[in-house]
Amino acid sequence: MRKLNGIRLAHAKNTAGSAFITLPPPQKVLIPMSMHMGVPCEPAVKLRQQVSVGECIGTSDAFFSADIHASVSGTVTAITDYRMANGSFCKAVEITSDGLMTPYAELKAPPCSTREEFLAAVRRSGAVGLGGAGFPTHVKLNPKNKIEFLIINAAECEPYITSDDRTMQEKQTEIIGSIRRVMRFLDIPECFIGVENNKPDAIRILTECAEKDDSITIVPLPPVYPQGAEKVLIYNITGRIVQEGQLPSDQGVIVMNVSTMAFLEEYFRTGMPLVSRSLTIDGDAIGKPCNVTVPVGTSIREVLEYAQCRFEDVRRLIGGGPMMGAGLPSFDLPVTKTNNAVLALTSDKPAVTTACIRCGRCVNVCPLKLMPTAMEQAYRRRDKAELESLHMSLCMLCGCCSYVCPANRPLVESHRLARDFMRQK
Ligand code: SF4
Ligand code: SF4
Repeated sequence: MRKLNGIRLAHAKNTAGSAFITLPPPQKVLIPMSMHMGVPCEPAVKLRQQVSVGECIGTSDAFFSADIHASVSGTVTAITDYRMANGSFCKAVEITSDGLMTPYAELKAPPCSTREEFLAAVRRSGAVGLGGAGFPTHVKLNPKNKIEFLIINAAECEPYITSDDRTMQEKQTEIIGSIRRVMRFLDIPECFIGVENNKPDAIRILTECAEKDDSITIVPLPPVYPQGAEKVLIYNITGRIVQEGQLPSDQGVIVMNVSTMAFLEEYFRTGMPLVSRSLTIDGDAIGKPCNVTVPVGTSIREVLEYAQCRFEDVRRLIGGGPMMGAGLPSFDLPVTKTNNAVLALTSDKPAVTTACIRCGRCVNVCPLKLMPTAMEQAYRRRDKAELESLHMSLCMLCGCCSYVCPANRPLVESHRLARDFMRQK
């Protein structure tokens, strides 16, 4: 089958051999009520209330949302307005830890003998897509259409990040158990685990773990960015094309991040909701690149201190990978459910932008065969009709076009603004 275009990047997977280290609980956590796509939660606790690990502290009546739970035991010391990395505001709950990490007394493995019980439990778990998008898992696992293929996104194609790779090496039993559970309750006949072939240990471990199961196939993929983008992964594995305006389920496919799958199985065994986050800390300002596990809401500054960050040298702080991650304006933001990495980099030279020389490289490299340069021009004119005819809404903001542009045109930044512009109208 023909594979979609993309680019080859230096992988810099410096932490592939670094097992997760669980850091001591912080003195305080700040937990935003919006760490997912959809409706933010409302705080479900009061000031000075005592809470335990796993107790629900934020919820919403809206279906398209995900509950939020205390990540440390202690006292609620503030309920505050919180400015997120994208500049918008939500409520946040600050908990001062008692250092005991006492689990909530009512937690137990949830009942799970019917599809309804399974979905209700997933909803109570607070699970969201841990690959970075934060799509509520109970919504994704409740499609209208019959699903033929479960695809596990284990590509992890961004440079530096190894948290999914480590999860595959350390939690293979949970991943395969979770796949079987999802296939059983959603009546899905076949599963593919898509892994880039630069992760040989993960491929070997998962292959051994799933070898007696004919319905699960590990698919090694070339390490070409953006292999892990949902539409790219679906096409490269099944040949199916998710059309403009469609969801993967419209093509009979569900794509789940591999770390989300590992979390779900642990939750079904213990009843502990999503209260911690495993992430990669790397970049050339980091003295000790590592993979760590911390309570959600831990200050990024504390995590960077553990990784021996040279704070004075940091010119660029990124939540996620260098291609699609978000710039972080402060070291004092909290680790959220969707943080799979924090990168601290010493250089942020503004590129000199020149006029487009019509070389066509951006068009050649786009996995979806879009016209990045025409899209940039249409947005400059605020020409909505033209943006629609150029299929702007298909753009995945992968950044391949910006990466190859010899004129350093800020194409992906323009596409991001153009997508917001189209939603506003
Ligand atoms: S950012 Fe959009 S236009 Fe640019 S290569 Fe990616 S999908 Fe194509
Ligand atoms: S890669 Fe840059 S210079 Fe070349 S056509 Fe695209 S926008 Fe123009």
